[in-house]
Amino acid sequence: MSGHFFAGSYDGDAANLPPDARLECRICWHVYDPAEGDPVAQVPPGTPFSALPAHWTCPNCDADPSGFLVIA
Ligand SMILES: [Zn+2]
Repeated sequence: MSGHFFAGSYDGDAANLPPDARLECRICWHVYDPAEGDPVAQVPPGTPFSALPAHWTCPNCDADPSGFLVIA
């Protein structure tokens, strides 16, 4: 951990995330920003992390969503 951000695991409970929460992959540091969506997975802008498709994984390293950390 480099300490340049505040991050915490949401323990896979995406329902507790605010809709505008950004999350960072703990493997490759790819950031999912709901304002941008995910063009790789054809997720439209405005999609909260909790509303991502069940098959969604990190577009950069294929990590499971449970491996993402909330950026405060
Ligand atoms: Zn990743």
